Amino acid sequence: MDDLLRPTARPSELDVSGACRSQNPTWFDGESLEAIQNAKKICSACPVRQMCLEWAISNEPHGVWGETTPKERKKLRGGTHFVTLEDRMREIERIADLRSSKTAVQLAAKYGKDQRTIFRWRAELGLDEEQVA
Ligand code: SF4
Repeated sequence: MDDLLRPTARPSELDVSGACRSQNPTWFDGESLEAIQNAKKICSACPVRQMCLEWAISNEPHGVWGETTPKERKKLRGGTHFVTLEDRMREIERIADLRSSKTAVQLAAKYGKDQRTIFRWRAELGLDEEQVA
């Protein structure tokens, strides 16, 4: 859950110091082996490679970043589902709803779940129905 709330802004250092800023962008977004190899070669000497990789693991579904392809980053995430900005926004909305005074009946209808699920979600946040009603 903490992962969902991590900031998503791309570190400005990548734009300022990234070795790719003056290179051919088609290498970084290309899918040919040659393009990927060219991009990775530039990344390997980049002064912000580690920062780029840490950011890209949870924020970049496409292209070469931090000397990795999307497949390699998925492997580094343990094969887990990529968390998109939309996923994060939905989760923030869900938590706000659970903390609101909306009833379990209203939330069950909104999320297509039964009321027990809403009670469980609230309990996971340390809330009970009397606290939010
Ligand atoms: S690691 Fe690669 S993609 Fe990231 S900023 Fe450096 S050159 Fe660009």
